[in-house]
Amino acid sequence: MRPSDLAPTFISHAPGYWPQESMARWSDHKWQLRNRVDSLTDLESRLNLTDVERAGALLAGHKLAMSITPHFFNLIDRDDPDCPIRRQVIPRIEEGWNAPEEVADPCGEDSHMPVPGLVHRYPDRVLFLVTDRCASYCRYCTRSRVVSGVGEQQLETQWEPAFKYLEQHTEIRDVLLSGGDPLLFSDDRLDKILTRLRAIPHLQFIRIGSRIPIFLPQRITPELCAMLKKHHPLFISIHTNHPRELTSEVRDALGRLADAGIPLGNQSVMLRGVNDSVEIQKALVHKLLMCRVKPYYLYQCDLINGSSHLRTSVAEGVAVIEGLRGHTTGYAIPQFVIDGPGGGGKIPINPNYLIDTSPGRVTLRNFEGEIFEYPDPTLIPKADLDRLHQEAFSRSM
Ligand SMILES: *Cc1c(COP(=O)(O)O)cnc(C)c1O
Repeated sequence: MRPSDLAPTFISHAPGYWPQESMARWSDHKWQLRNRVDSLTDLESRLNLTDVERAGALLAGHKLAMSITPHFFNLIDRDDPDCPIRRQVIPRIEEGWNAPEEVADPCGEDSHMPVPGLVHRYPDRVLFLVTDRCASYCRYCTRSRVVSGVGEQQLETQWEPAFKYLEQHTEIRDVLLSGGDPLLFSDDRLDKILTRLRAIPHLQFIRIGSRIPIFLPQRITPELCAMLKKHHPLFISIHTNHPRELTSEVRDALGRLADAGIPLGNQSVMLRGVNDSVEIQKALVHKLLMCRVKPYYLYQCDLINGSSHLRTSVAEGVAVIEGLRGHTTGYAIPQFVIDGPGGGGKIPINPNYLIDTSPGRVTLRNFEGEIFEYPDPTLIPKADLDRLHQEAFSRSM
């Protein structure tokens, strides 16, 4: 960890590993995408890899691809083999080993797809997987079976049948666009999709799940924001795990989205060696609030193949929440959840503040460990109620 990781400051890391000349194109998101680090040669030309990483990068072409935008790559600490940024995006050999508890589709999405690309798990909302590509690939991706184009399955979104399903299912009021990363689409393409969804009267609420504000803040152009603004009420859930990811460019991109009236939430994943401490999580959520982003969920890492080196115990996540609740702003505290293996949906996990329940009262503890009793309401005795009526009546005379 760098001491600056804990500071509530937003710094730019450009040009970092790139030559000064590249600054002329730096803010062009297409340049960023064209110059992603996606081969071992490219990676090794910039960074001294460990053997574990070199072997991991060789393996990556056969499962989840490697791809890192220059913007995000610059957050990597050259001298720190345990850098929390490199653990998220540089493959490691451990990815090649599947623990007995791990699977390809940990949230059971494939068995909840009435139409390819549409996951209908909850009564009133759907997850709409609109692309299999991202700006960069997270090594713990829950959808690595379909994302990046080199995995074992193909995502085959069936657009017309999906729109028909949404039209026919009037109980659906909430659509979450995800993938892959929907903000990788052109403004025009996204506008058409959102317009089509907005034409369905019972869809009250649309969300986009995206890590582009973090991987590629240059994509959050004024034009994109102006287009998104036409489709309100529209929320965006971003994905960030470590305070170093909140650079000045990211803060400005999030500011443009917030100024377009888009409420922003963040989803983090508990990751070993990345954000498995209260102090890092606290620095992260404080910076998120400064960027007008509400920490929404903190996920226990899904049981995705090849993730055991990144997963933490459930108790560690509970300890993080316990270290936040009461100790900092309530708005800063995400809900810790486990996505039920096989398709249980998100299950909230909380520290236990309810120590005992007995008839008529509960025993509680607060964040400082003090004990409190909270009794159920006492019913007003008939005699007292009669007397109050009598008093009120005599006053009105
Ligand atoms: C996460 C998720 C949603 C959205 O859940 P919220 O708790 O409303 O954020 C919807 N569908 C699926 C399949 C999901 O995994």
